[in-house]
Amino acid sequence: MPALFPHSTIIGYPRIGPRRELKKALEAYWAGRIDATALEREARRLREATYARLTGLGLNPHDASIPASFSMYDQVLDTAVLLGAIPERFPDLAADHGPLGIDDYFTLARGDEQRSPLEMTKWFDTNYHYLVPEIGPRTPFTLDPDTLLRQVAEAADAGYRVRPTLIGPVTFLLLSKAAEGAGGGFAPLDRLDDVLPLYAELLDRLEERGVRWVQFDEPALATDTPLPDAVVDDAVRRAYDHLSGVAGRPAILLTTPYGGVGQRLGAIAATGVEAVHLDLVRGAVPAPAELALLKGKTLVAGIIDGHNVWKADLGEAAAVLDRLRADGVSLSVATSTSLQHVPHDTGVEQSLPDELRSWLSFADQKVEEVVVLAGHVAHPGSADRAIAAATTVLAGRRSAPGVEVPAVRERAAGLSPSDFDRGGFEERRSAQQAALNLPLLPTTTIGSFPQTAEVRSARARAARGDLSAAGYEAALQDEIRRVIALQEELGFDVLVHGEPERNDMVQYFAENLDGFDVTQHGWVQSYGSRCTRPSLLWGDVSRPAPITVPWTSFAQSLTGRPVKGMLTGPVTILAWSFVRNDQPLADTAFQVALALRDEVLDLERAGTRIIQVDEPALRELLPLRRADQPAYLDWSVRAFNLATAAAAPATQIHTHLCYSEFGAVITAIDGLDADVTSIEAARSRMEVVHDLEEHGFPRGVGPGVYDIHSPRVPSAEEIRLLLERAVRHVPAAQLWVNPDCGLKTRGYRETERSLRHLVDAARAVRAAV
Ligand code: GLN
Ligand code: ZN
Repeated sequence: MPALFPHSTIIGYPRIGPRRELKKALEAYWAGRIDATALEREARRLREATYARLTGLGLNPHDASIPASFSMYDQVLDTAVLLGAIPERFPDLAADHGPLGIDDYFTLARGDEQRSPLEMTKWFDTNYHYLVPEIGPRTPFTLDPDTLLRQVAEAADAGYRVRPTLIGPVTFLLLSKAAEGAGGGFAPLDRLDDVLPLYAELLDRLEERGVRWVQFDEPALATDTPLPDAVVDDAVRRAYDHLSGVAGRPAILLTTPYGGVGQRLGAIAATGVEAVHLDLVRGAVPAPAELALLKGKTLVAGIIDGHNVWKADLGEAAAVLDRLRADGVSLSVATSTSLQHVPHDTGVEQSLPDELRSWLSFADQKVEEVVVLAGHVAHPGSADRAIAAATTVLAGRRSAPGVEVPAVRERAAGLSPSDFDRGGFEERRSAQQAALNLPLLPTTTIGSFPQTAEVRSARARAARGDLSAAGYEAALQDEIRRVIALQEELGFDVLVHGEPERNDMVQYFAENLDGFDVTQHGWVQSYGSRCTRPSLLWGDVSRPAPITVPWTSFAQSLTGRPVKGMLTGPVTILAWSFVRNDQPLADTAFQVALALRDEVLDLERAGTRIIQVDEPALRELLPLRRADQPAYLDWSVRAFNLATAAAAPATQIHTHLCYSEFGAVITAIDGLDADVTSIEAARSRMEVVHDLEEHGFPRGVGPGVYDIHSPRVPSAEEIRLLLERAVRHVPAAQLWVNPDCGLKTRGYRETERSLRHLVDAARAVRAAV
């Protein structure tokens, strides 16, 4: 049996590259600008640079401290491919046609002309999205380990003994969806016994290559799964009894990031794996009785938060580790999750204030924190200086100007229930009807219009200083004129200004609110080559000046029809930023809501009669554990209410949500109390109207009739059929006609035609009801 697990490790590292090298290489390859050899060369360079970097930061290159956590696109897809689990709808890619090539891999990830790619869905409670494997009763499994083995060999050649990481069998199957036509009673986990021999064979092959430790990620064990606990616990036992029973294998580290495993620790600890990783940030620190279960194994303590960007309280962490060690457990220090959710390095941020930068810890800094704590565990006292330095930084952060602003706090403390309450809908409805006089089935859009090359280039030139503020404003006003004229010509009832001034619906507000800063290079992978750059919400939030009012008022000055003001809601601003961790999220949400409340009132004062507050991320922040969900839904709904409730009854409040599976949260959405709610519906062919009907959704609703995610132009006929379906389930007096989402990523050519069809269809149905 192998030696002990290393003293310090991380569960995974960002793959995208400090300068988004992987993104650039992938996109160059897809565009045909580089070939497969060049892509692989760049990927290999990145992997080796990562190993070198991690070594430089203090991880041992020789003892499996360094995880081999690279992926060309997505780690779940990698595991599916490793197991040869190719969905049956891709028969040409099946294993009997030979090993999968890189283009085949990208076909699964991105689709081709005839086939849509694997579905993409949110990875636990992060902003990363993974590809969902499709497993049926007959999906064949064949081990295809070459990519993984090559990476192990290449690392060894470069002098690194790395630890391969892959998705463990239980989580792999729990995250998979049943293939189409699988039949009612089937769950992918039913195939556990079929995949285990492949995992076992892989262990053999890795052993042959001299691998000492393998990491199996089992994050699903830290969540509530749809299957009963007993079924999942039994799967854990079967899987890891099987794998630990393989003779002459590498040692196994089983990880459980993104939450606590709770009662499931018993099942995990009863298996023969050599090391168990627990998330001590989201989950509880195990009590002595629980630690006793882990006797003989290494506890890999996930104590540095892989989820946020703030410097850790090393003193507190050291105290937790001391306690664990006192209980006699064999201990290793690690991150709570992979570091793929944070940017690479604070060191490259030149424009952030030094003080703010000193509070931050991105991936590289988190590795250093792990190493400091591991030093403390190995030689108590040896890391005292670093621990004291962290304590000083944290104290400085607490007392820094802007972190606690008395006026903001007093305002939040003085709120009363009426501040969250808009009053009865009936009164609002008649006031709004009198003010707006809209036809039946009013037409509108979700807010953004195509962001043209001219708008982007004007923004880039303004940022570089090559275009004056006045020049930039004039360029945006030209765009707004064009968007208003187009909507009037198309015959829309409620217009928008098109959002040309926004690079991003959250960052734009972050740039205009106090309490936020934005990074230059703080990119994190969202999926594949897509990255986002979350803003940093570090202090008490307030609004120094109106943000959207000038643009909305300018647009309104061009037309007699109502122009809808456009704001991003408090929950979405939180969900897509890195948020301070020194107070409850709800408190932060209420501060953002109060800033938006002022904006709502200023828009209203400037003559805006309709205001939309987007909350596309409302469901994204929903906690993984069902027990935590009611409290979240309560404060998130109240934050929206706080942002909007000051509006007069005659002001119509809209909201927009980007998804259609909202059966589970429909009560919360009702609780938002928006006068009109637009949602995604085109891709599911209006399925959502059943939920609305069943719930008796009482206010206006716009199920999207046009899928903006694809360049395809829907015909007027097709849209008319969708609307007719909607009218059968939702009273026509409540229905609005709109696309699924904003048009920002579309081109004008297809958008114009699609919107024309949308208005034609609305008119046809309007005439018939
Ligand atoms: N108003 C935003 C837009 O149209 C909404 C975007 C979103 O829902 N993600 O772009
Ligand atoms: Zn949307």
